[in-house]
Amino acid sequence: MNEIKPFSHPVYVTRPLLPDLEETGKMLEVIWESGYLTNNGKTARQLEFELERFLKVKHLSLFSNGTAALQIACKVLGLSGEVITTPFTFAATAHCLSWCNLKPVFCDIDDADMNIDPGRIEEMITPDTSAILPVHVFGYPCRVDEISGIAEKHGLKVIYDAAHAFGVETGGRPVGTYGDMTMFSFHATKVFHTIEGGALSCSSADLKKRAGLLRNFGIINEECVIEPGTNAKLNEIQAAVGLLVLKLVEEEIGKRRILTNIYRSILEGIPGLKYSTDMKGVVHNYSYFIIRVDAGEYGMTRDRLCEKLKEYNIFARKYFYPLCSQFPCYCSLPSSDPQNLPVANRVAGEVLALPLFGGMSEDDAGRICRIISYIRLNNTEVSHE
Ligand SMILES: *Cc1c(COP(=O)(O)O)cnc(C)c1O
Repeated sequence: MNEIKPFSHPVYVTRPLLPDLEETGKMLEVIWESGYLTNNGKTARQLEFELERFLKVKHLSLFSNGTAALQIACKVLGLSGEVITTPFTFAATAHCLSWCNLKPVFCDIDDADMNIDPGRIEEMITPDTSAILPVHVFGYPCRVDEISGIAEKHGLKVIYDAAHAFGVETGGRPVGTYGDMTMFSFHATKVFHTIEGGALSCSSADLKKRAGLLRNFGIINEECVIEPGTNAKLNEIQAAVGLLVLKLVEEEIGKRRILTNIYRSILEGIPGLKYSTDMKGVVHNYSYFIIRVDAGEYGMTRDRLCEKLKEYNIFARKYFYPLCSQFPCYCSLPSSDPQNLPVANRVAGEVLALPLFGGMSEDDAGRICRIISYIRLNNTEVSHE
């Protein structure tokens, strides 16, 4: 096989979707003209309306970021005590609970979809449990019906972290219609973004109203402040960026789908690599492309592959390693014991997110696959261990 050259520029795991600068300028002119920059302005309300339609949810509220949205969901739903969640997620999921004086209880994940394993949830329930906080990891939907069943049986609230699942549908319904509330993140690294931003969806007008109050200091009107809220508003400029990005998002998802299929078709021939495929009855958003490395079969560990890829200017990411249950702030919780989380601990050592964004060319995806194959076949470096 011919020597394969590194990329001339670094290829990162993602690149934010950027709207046309001139069009953005025009939107900014209108905002400048109005002199109204934040506080639930016209642009933010328009984005809320358009996202309700795009995500097919009854009610949606915008926030300054997904983390603030999730904290407000915990407050609005009056959670207390313990909340069962997954350790295989971004730090924000567990941290939101801590910030709300709730105790995260880590439940193991399912090897197939890497989401919280509904079959393990019930044994984690105690008299202090008030809710379940599952994550649709990498945009693959959780087993929502089983989770609803458990929640109903035990009188628990459910908040979904759908930070990865913008536009995803399962069981004939958009993800934002399951559970009591669903959080979306609109951070620049997500498939749809407002630079920084987030949202909560719910089916109750009352919940939306309370979330809106908490987002703005609990202020009802000039002379009435009803409860201790926070400041988690999305400003007009970010909302404008959101309106423009929203127009591009379907095309972006389409491009990512094509790249995903290229990855799948080429990687299929490489021993020791696994990846997720499309699920029946699910509308996917192709937000991430994750491979799982079987060190024995592939011939090297995930960590070593990740290091080798850097030599080719490819910057893959170990999502999600370490697990939240391994963070110093959570590792002494009883549920963080690796014996309680065997699947999550194994999976965290296997996963690698490869570059995936619409601006990447199909040739780039093919080249990344060939490099991964080349690295495997040329893994001749003598081990000094
Ligand atoms: C990005 C992300 C968040 C946090 O969202 P922000 O908008 O960055 O605050 C929460 N959970 C998961 C799984 C995420 O990936």
